[in-house]
Amino acid sequence: MKKYRHIFFDLDHTLWDFEKNSEETIKEIYNTLDLQSRIESSFDLYKSFEKANRWVWDQYHKDLLGKEAFRSLRFDLALSEHNIKDEKLSILLSELYLKICPTKPHLLPDSIEVLSFLKKNYFLHLISNGFEEITMQKVETTSLKKFFQTITTPSQSGYKKPHELMFDFAIKKAGCLANESIMIGDDLEADVLGAKRFGMDCIYFNPNLIEHQEIVTFEIHSIKELLSIL
Ligand SMILES: [Mg+2]
Repeated sequence: MKKYRHIFFDLDHTLWDFEKNSEETIKEIYNTLDLQSRIESSFDLYKSFEKANRWVWDQYHKDLLGKEAFRSLRFDLALSEHNIKDEKLSILLSELYLKICPTKPHLLPDSIEVLSFLKKNYFLHLISNGFEEITMQKVETTSLKKFFQTITTPSQSGYKKPHELMFDFAIKKAGCLANESIMIGDDLEADVLGAKRFGMDCIYFNPNLIEHQEIVTFEIHSIKELLSIL
């Protein structure tokens, strides 16, 4: 078994429970803004937001959307699923979402236990494509921050995963080499194949058992499985 010294983690959907935090946020906003008369339930709004968010992130990863367009477009698209075209409302939803969501505390199961164990033997790092201020707020609210030696976001490196210069920036910041490092994340393209192309080993965290044909160093379905690999 190859000996790694540095482990790089993705944040959203890998450690930070994006679905749960997001759903709770949308529910809170739905109730605060009294949206009952316009959208059947907060879950309906959440489902359309989730779909829009996935699409918008995909466009953002491919550099087809900028940060500002990204933010308001998610809710424009989500509201249009409910036949609502209301620019003021989508801007308000976007502002509230960005204010509340990063303060939510939920992590995916066993994250803290696994990180606590790994921290005894490895240097741990974060590489997130999230916005700098939001990422920092998330790690501070959830007590994740203390586990990580370095945290890299696109606003520091100028590149996003899967771009190899994002990984290059992160390992230089960490003061390590690609061949003593491994990357773990839930996004096959951005986290796993990005790292692989850069020359780093990779672990695909695939809790939803998404089918694929790629060759990855390891594949796991729960974070706890890391303990039998590392
Ligand atoms: Mg992720």
